[in-house]
Amino acid sequence: MQIDLSHPDFQAAIPIMKEIEAAGFEAYFVGGAVRDAILGLPIHDVDIASSAYPQEIKQIFPKTVDTGIQHGTVMVLRHGQGYEVTTFRTESGYQDFRRPDHVTFVRSLEEDLKRRDFTVNALAVRHDGTVIDLFGGLADLTSQTLRAVGDPHARFHEDALRMMRAVRFESQLGFHVAPATQAAIQANAPLLAKISVERVAAEFTRLMLGQWRNAGLATFLATALSAHVPVLAAHPAAMQRLAALPATPIEEPAVAWTLVAALTQAPVRQLMTAWKQANALADVTQRATALLPVLPIPDPWQLYQAGEAAVRVAVAAAQYLTPAVSQAGVTAAYAALPIHTKHELAITGATLMQHGFTPGPKLGQMLGHLEQAVVMGDLPNTPAALLAAAQG
Ligand code: ATP
Ligand code: MG
Repeated sequence: MQIDLSHPDFQAAIPIMKEIEAAGFEAYFVGGAVRDAILGLPIHDVDIASSAYPQEIKQIFPKTVDTGIQHGTVMVLRHGQGYEVTTFRTESGYQDFRRPDHVTFVRSLEEDLKRRDFTVNALAVRHDGTVIDLFGGLADLTSQTLRAVGDPHARFHEDALRMMRAVRFESQLGFHVAPATQAAIQANAPLLAKISVERVAAEFTRLMLGQWRNAGLATFLATALSAHVPVLAAHPAAMQRLAALPATPIEEPAVAWTLVAALTQAPVRQLMTAWKQANALADVTQRATALLPVLPIPDPWQLYQAGEAAVRVAVAAAQYLTPAVSQAGVTAAYAALPIHTKHELAITGATLMQHGFTPGPKLGQMLGHLEQAVVMGDLPNTPAALLAAAQG
């Protein structure tokens, strides 16, 4: 079969592949871009696999960067663009159920495709559009099936993260997991505990943002992968509710985590720390989760304390939790607050000191009172009114 490589990202890389071939080696497009192009989805990061060893790639091209040379990846620089070329490789070892102990560079495309996770991710395409399909990936694309390449038990034993990738792809692509592959996930789910929580979290977040989230979550639960991840393992009933929320896609990670926090009722900091999430994400999730119970009619001070991002996230999350309740007024109410940060307060500590206040905790408390009174609409935000109130 031939596929259409007219997408500019493929076109830009084709001269690189031709040069590799001219030097006597093979080069193919591989990975997600091939899968997504055949599905007619938008493509990102075009990966090139080659029989040339990293040193050979570096001899062919004058400008390269060793982006991942120990794994066989060299970036070829051309016209200000970078093209990642990865040497065909096999992996062995996997003594710890994650990452291979050794990667071995090989000259055989088949060996390289064999170590890939799912058949739909194990297609290769030559620069003329010819598809090399050694594992039935095209048929699985047509039937929308995620099927492990080779023996699924062995593959999940080698690298347990692949089990999370299966449910993530299910959610992203709307494919179903082949029965034998799903059975192997179920049998090997406890191995997920061997994988670093950051990598599991990255896949879980992508699952939560997928268009077929509820299908991905259903498999995540049915295979008991959910029983081997932080916090969620202890909340199976909440996870069932999570998988049954309205199907509308979730647009940002903070909304996903807010829904998880609201349903599990796990302390947000604990949840986010257990999943090793960034502080900024944890912070907005915490604020949004705190705001949820008072929606859709928070008082102005509650809105102000949440801040713009958490208001947006909480409003989005509420639409899943209480879809019948309109949140229409909440964003407008936030916008209409007299001030949005304490820097907008019409008086500062320095001004108060000029009028006889002494520095110290009392001054801070006074500013806090004024801030709250302005936010609540009890005082106009003018220097005169605030000074008068402070002196009152
Ligand atoms: P996307 O980039 O859209 O998330 P992708 O399929 O390109 O999807 P990547 O993580 O970019 O996923 O990996 C590129 C390719 O490398 C995959 O298509 C697959 O062939 C292979 N691959 C990635 N991770 C694994 C893994 N854990 N086990 C086996 N093969 C893998
Ligand atoms: Mg990719």
